[in-house]
Amino acid sequence: MEFIDRLLTCADCGGEFIFTAGEQLFFFDKQFKNDPKRCKPCKSKRAGVGLRAGTGPAAAGLSRTETRTECSACGIETTVPFKPTQGRPVLCRQCFQAKRAPTTGALVTAAATADMVAGSGEHNSVGAELLTAAHSSQA
Ligand SMILES: [Zn+2]
Ligand SMILES: [Zn+2]
Repeated sequence: MEFIDRLLTCADCGGEFIFTAGEQLFFFDKQFKNDPKRCKPCKSKRAGVGLRAGTGPAAAGLSRTETRTECSACGIETTVPFKPTQGRPVLCRQCFQAKRAPTTGALVTAAATADMVAGSGEHNSVGAELLTAAHSSQA
């Protein structure tokens, strides 16, 4: 059996990478049936993340965490798209809006609180996510 370098397409990033003759020999030696699917950077990236059996486009859709919790202000049950940290306030839609609406001072506080809770620096997306979460819990 003779091996020559081959150009393969990475299944992750779509880039081309070289499946070298040496690697092919190694694969042949180990009796691996399939060509490598990913370039080295993508392979090491996945290894770092922790490869799971069901990894794929479908699995990516499940990465969003919905957590059931109680509003820190009024106590009603709501769901949030993130994991609330113990001791930190989580607000339902009404309380979130009430807190951010009235004065400039309250607006800053509410936004800062939401940022702390969500662990994100984007005010708009946090607001939208809280709205979506609260809305779906009430439907
Ligand atoms: Zn790649
Ligand atoms: Zn509330």
